[in-house]
Amino acid sequence: MATSLVEDPKGNPKRPLEANDSSLDSGLDSGLDSGLTTDVSPKLEAGTLNSNDAASVADLRRIPTKDTVAPSKLAIILAVGLPPVVFIGGLIMAVVWGGVNPWFVALVFGGWIATGLGITVGYHRMVAHRSFQTYGWVRAFWIAMGAMALEGCPLQWSTVHRKHHKHSDEESDPHTPHKEGHGWFQGLFFSHVGWMFRQHTFLDEVEKFSPDLRTDPIVMFFHRTYVYWIALSVAIPVGIGLLIQPTVMGAVYGFCFGAGFRIFWTHHVTWSINSVCHVFGARPYKSKDHSRNNFLFGILALGEGWHNNHHAFPNSARHGLKWWQFDLSWVVIRTMSLLGMVWNVKTPSKKEMLSKVNS
Ligand SMILES: [Zn+2]
Ligand SMILES: [Zn+2]
Repeated sequence: MATSLVEDPKGNPKRPLEANDSSLDSGLDSGLDSGLTTDVSPKLEAGTLNSNDAASVADLRRIPTKDTVAPSKLAIILAVGLPPVVFIGGLIMAVVWGGVNPWFVALVFGGWIATGLGITVGYHRMVAHRSFQTYGWVRAFWIAMGAMALEGCPLQWSTVHRKHHKHSDEESDPHTPHKEGHGWFQGLFFSHVGWMFRQHTFLDEVEKFSPDLRTDPIVMFFHRTYVYWIALSVAIPVGIGLLIQPTVMGAVYGFCFGAGFRIFWTHHVTWSINSVCHVFGARPYKSKDHSRNNFLFGILALGEGWHNNHHAFPNSARHGLKWWQFDLSWVVIRTMSLLGMVWNVKTPSKKEMLSKVNS
């Protein structure tokens, strides 16, 4: 199947794949056509899992309970509910005390782009879909950025996401807006935020959808240390706030805007891909689900809103397939490719794209 993919068009030298990568490549590549990205367990059962299995299972059990790798309900309530509350508090203070230094806008913008790209380039295209390969330090950098978006650890995020592709808009899709018995609004709400309170990522789902990740030392490092990345996600903007304005209010505004508003905004932009982009927009390509290309979230979600393209070609590193479909994440990946930092970058061929055009 590798032949059906156009690798790095400018022909950066192809590095040898890692052992785990080569054992998974054909299984994941076949997903480009089928829309599936997760049929990797048979290959791993055949020999990739090693004697560290017991240790890996123990690692998985560290967060947070004995049989799931999902955060507790309280943690989800805090992660979803606190950022907007903190932001509104900051807004009230700013209004009452006469505005904030414009550098705080830059802090929010920079934090959004950095952690947003961590989700799109790192968690989604690199970890969940393996749409390009790279050095360990580049991989660690993007996963660190993604972890600071507070959307879960990379193991849990990718397992849920791979399940979404496997069962897209079916009953077992974790966050479809088209769930049986849900009305239009209820479906939209469920897919946006409601699903998180019902979703549990169990160990057997990790085994089924992410066997490659549970033996990936970088992914597992971020899984084990996830709580520290949450702390850093708050501490860094507070520190920058103090640099912008070296008073207590500098730290407070750094917390309220650089952490609170930035996390709130990044969350809802990401979740809109699950909700809005399975309801509103165009379907230029055939896919077995209701995925849509949505111009607004194509821009806001750094390229992820070209979601019908993505479901049609899930392993493609490029989601904005037309020249006018701006895809900042692809610009970043392409730039890294030109600099020799990533390789084996997957994009669909013209023939593949033509074969899936909706008539
Ligand atoms: Zn989707
Ligand atoms: Zn995906």
